[in-house]
Amino acid sequence: MGKRYYCDYCDKTMVASPSIIRTHNKGVVHQKLVSEHYQQYKDPSTILSEESNKKPCVRFARGECQFGGICRFSHYTQEQINTLKQYVAAQDSTKLNANQPSFEDLYQKLQTDKITKSQPNEGTAMYDRNGVTHIFPWVYNPVFDSFGESLPPSLKRLKIDDFINASFTEWG
Ligand SMILES: [Zn+2]
Ligand SMILES: [Zn+2]
Repeated sequence: MGKRYYCDYCDKTMVASPSIIRTHNKGVVHQKLVSEHYQQYKDPSTILSEESNKKPCVRFARGECQFGGICRFSHYTQEQINTLKQYVAAQDSTKLNANQPSFEDLYQKLQTDKITKSQPNEGTAMYDRNGVTHIFPWVYNPVFDSFGESLPPSLKRLKIDDFINASFTEWG
């Protein structure tokens, strides 16, 4: 027995002679199956644009068309075309949405904004004579500033000098 050639598309074994394989590959059945094989990997928008350019196959509607995937007329029903259109439109809108920030992104941004905006209120910056910034973990109510010296000592803003001259040897 000579060498055998197996065609994946047609699930068919034949004599592995170049002329037989060539004839087989040119055959309508083979081409139909190859075309149908690749059709399933096609992007729906590709199928839609291909099928929209074809006239509906009258024979296929009667169940008589032998050409399958290689028919030059469309084997898609109007209903199937509409479904494809809806599918492609839905896909396009997903692509558009991908450019917009997702809910998670917005939430993340809000959290970050909160942190950066609230930071100035979380401490009080003071500069000493050497230009060193000290952040103290308390805040002042700016309303009290307008009362100036008439404020009770506990509400006055501390100046950096208060720390320099302070003696911390005795803690309450
Ligand atoms: Zn084949
Ligand atoms: Zn047809």
